[in-house]
Amino acid sequence: MNSHTVLYGVIGDPIRHSRSPVMLGRAFRESGVNGAYGAFHVAPERLGDAIRGIRALGFRGLNVTIPHKVEVMAYLDEIDESAGAIGAVNTIVNEDGRLIGYNTDGIGYVRSLKEEAEPDLTGKRVLVLGAGGAARGIVWALQREHTAEIWLANRTEQRAVGLAAALPSDGRLKVLPWHLLAEACGEADIVINTTSVGMAPHTEAMPADPAWLRPGAVASDLIYNPLKTAFLGAAEQRGCRIHGGLGMFVYQGAYAFEYWTGLPAPARAMREEVLASFAGTAAV
Ligand code: NAP
Repeated sequence: MNSHTVLYGVIGDPIRHSRSPVMLGRAFRESGVNGAYGAFHVAPERLGDAIRGIRALGFRGLNVTIPHKVEVMAYLDEIDESAGAIGAVNTIVNEDGRLIGYNTDGIGYVRSLKEEAEPDLTGKRVLVLGAGGAARGIVWALQREHTAEIWLANRTEQRAVGLAAALPSDGRLKVLPWHLLAEACGEADIVINTTSVGMAPHTEAMPADPAWLRPGAVASDLIYNPLKTAFLGAAEQRGCRIHGGLGMFVYQGAYAFEYWTGLPAPARAMREEVLASFAGTAAV
């Protein structure tokens, strides 16, 4: 660091588990950018102070994680269309004192899905399990692809209905009752688990019975701890192509890096760094 180092960081509560500093730190080193990225523990009642601090200190960029993704919007000068539709911000860019909020979670997920599992989403029937915060960005991003249909199923159906109503209606997005899951899994080309079922420490739990999936279909899971969930392991046994959550994490960070620096993100090195940080600690 020197007196020209540009500052970046992530705010959340809790934050000490975050892999963003190692991932973005590697991205800056790899790209020759004189930047420093820290993790900041910000309690909800200090969120306004934290954003004022970002302005005062001239941070170029910030990532925002749980529980601030919605509340932070009130402190920004501009909200990008994607973040507005999704209703949450995970990336802030400071353009000469104007703070602009973006959401890179959904587009990060879709970029990872296309690069790692299914390059062409045209005509695909996609089943999304879950309707929480992560599902919002993913459904929004999937609507931007030429998918044939997007089926949304959530244990609490009303939440799926609310999510579908909040997003632009284009006739392809349909809410499915949870009890029709078996049938829908069998018809879907891609089944995406956006629920928290299977996340460490409850790693044996599965959001749906993998025996319902069609061999050859893609089973995708947002969870990256463990890197391969029980759901993905069983789907692989069944002959499905599998796609884990690490790529989403890497690419949401890659988009943030690109928005901040204008440079292509070194995604491979970023993934390598996160994987190294997991060594010996996965599924904890
Ligand atoms: P959230 O807002 O709390 O939503 C949780 C979702 O899981 C809801 O749809 C909830 O259904 C469902 N659910 C919870 N327990 C369930 C159960 N026993 N059976 C069926 N459904 C259940 O959480 P989120 O922020 O969307 O995160 C969801 C997952 O995505 C987490 O595992 C998180 O780690 C992962 N994630 C990964 C990335 C990444 O970069 N890879 C990014 C964001 C999130 P109800 O509405 O019925 O409660």
